[in-house]
Amino acid sequence: MTKIDSTTLLEIKDLVASVEDQQILNGVNLKIKAGEIHAIMGRNGCGKSTLSKVIAGHPAYKVISGNVLFKNQNLLELEAEERARIGIFLGFQYPIEIPGVSNLEFLRVATNSRRKEIGETELDTFEFEDLVRAKLDLVQMKPTFLERSVNEGFSGGEKKRNEILQMALLNPSVAILDETDSGLDIDALRIVASGVKKLSTKSTATILITHYQRLLNEITPDYVHIMSDGKIMQTGGPELAIELEKEGYDWLNKYEEIKGDKS
Ligand code: ADP
Ligand code: MG
Repeated sequence: MTKIDSTTLLEIKDLVASVEDQQILNGVNLKIKAGEIHAIMGRNGCGKSTLSKVIAGHPAYKVISGNVLFKNQNLLELEAEERARIGIFLGFQYPIEIPGVSNLEFLRVATNSRRKEIGETELDTFEFEDLVRAKLDLVQMKPTFLERSVNEGFSGGEKKRNEILQMALLNPSVAILDETDSGLDIDALRIVASGVKKLSTKSTATILITHYQRLLNEITPDYVHIMSDGKIMQTGGPELAIELEKEGYDWLNKYEEIKGDKS
């Protein structure tokens, strides 16, 4: 049997980036193949959200050096919207509210722009409603959420489920979920986790940014990375997250001391 090396979907090389003239990412390296789920953990402020926003193309975050490739294509030269269209999805740590724009219309515009890119027909309001209703079950959301303004007045758990609904509609190749599990009760966590599991396939890559083992109990990652000071300082399997949960981030200090403190 010939061994087929699966495609690398996302490759981050020596990525250095800043926000508000402050350097936050200090050389991130990461390679993710199709079919893989990677977890990124690390203390508050170590740069996890910054990394996800740089990948998604948030204009406030400036790349100083390094590269981000999606299927060997330079992502950094694309606008955020183009990145979304070609299949990069970011589930925000703090999903934004858009008063006055109905969730249904927002989802339809985003979905159509993605469908056009992948050669599928664009959907009118009626067709889209059928599609979206079929996906609502996945996140156990009531249809009334479609008529409300995007995320306005949604509870924390509802916002996060709405992010997963977006993901289900957009069919991204690379999904980055930034603390999608935080603030969720047990039931909502299970709904979100099972949704993400269903949407992670052989042809997609998933990055879960999380502080908690409880999400990783539901979704077993292939790799766990620990970020510190804007870099990935350790990579392991699922056991690394379990160790971290047991020992806390303090045991990493020893590791950092051995490496030598650069500051
Ligand atoms: P994490 O997600 O790991 O908790 P972040 O990437 O959110 O960390 O933040 C890393 C550092 O970058 C923090 O010191 C944070 O204050 C700073 N930072 C992030 N975004 C901004 C911003 N828009 N303006 C100013 N500082 C920011
Ligand atoms: Mg964060």
